[in-house]
Amino acid sequence: MALAEAETTLPDPKMAQGGAFIDGAFVPVQDAKISVLDFGLTRSDCTYDVVGVWKGRFFRLDRHLDRFEASCERLRLALPLSREELEATLHRLVALTGLEDAYVSMTLTRGRPNPAAPRDPRQCVPNFYAYAIPYVWLANEAQQAKGLALKIARDVARISRRSVDQRTKNYHWLDLEMALLHALDDGADSVLLMDIDGNLTEGPGYNVFAYRDGVWSTPDTNVLEGITRGAVLDLLAEMNVGSSVRPMTEDDLFGAEEVIVTTTAGGVMPVTAVDGRPVGDGTPGPQAARLKALYWDKHTDPAWSVPVDRTA
Ligand code: PLP
Repeated sequence: MALAEAETTLPDPKMAQGGAFIDGAFVPVQDAKISVLDFGLTRSDCTYDVVGVWKGRFFRLDRHLDRFEASCERLRLALPLSREELEATLHRLVALTGLEDAYVSMTLTRGRPNPAAPRDPRQCVPNFYAYAIPYVWLANEAQQAKGLALKIARDVARISRRSVDQRTKNYHWLDLEMALLHALDDGADSVLLMDIDGNLTEGPGYNVFAYRDGVWSTPDTNVLEGITRGAVLDLLAEMNVGSSVRPMTEDDLFGAEEVIVTTTAGGVMPVTAVDGRPVGDGTPGPQAARLKALYWDKHTDPAWSVPVDRTA
């Protein structure tokens, strides 16, 4: 549609607490339902992505869509929408909610089994849905001000990348959930998991970085290649600060001057204790504060963000 003719999408008051696109229609999020038969639910046979909207702008939308499309391809899930349709759907969804700061999730599941071949995933019709809800913070304000206290999971290992490729954003969360429950029971804010060989991986919904001797390091494998992790690596390059993507162990955390976790659901957040031991002097450090400020500044920078299109 030519720009001059385009109509503005007005917010729908019924979607003020969130909206969804499901079965080809936009509905209030509380009305969005999927079938109990969907393999996404019964097999975790699906992939998803989550992009943030801040001050009415999508942050690094292209990178999220690239990752989502790559994930669909790895799982042999055919997206029923073109890139342009996907993008327009997300813009329209956010416009309908009227939210300025939103958590926007898109999922493609294998769909329901075909009764004629109930065990053949190739016979399913993939099911796409998306929703936008008020922005989600992984840690609340008080936790962020104090810095997070993390535990390292000792009795649950992160699932092997040979079983589930963590580069494909997935709902295989039982290792993360069980480790999180143990850590919360122990009074920590959250948890980090190691693989079975003792390499540091990630936590439930975030990547981790440790700073020492002028260099920020982050684990190289068995992790989701977080868009926020990528943003931090790009910011470090811009700031002329060293970075290293490499194998890490718990010793990298215990010897760190500063530690952060990174996620779309909260950005860059300082960690001030690991397994009850203080990181540095036990307060949020200056490097983390710099990164956090720059990260949020980029949300209004046109090179890093696009405004929600209210005519999509
Ligand atoms: N690791 C896992 C397991 C995640 O689920 C997420 C996000 O939900 C992340 C890392 C961080 O990724 P991003 O920065 O793209 O939000």
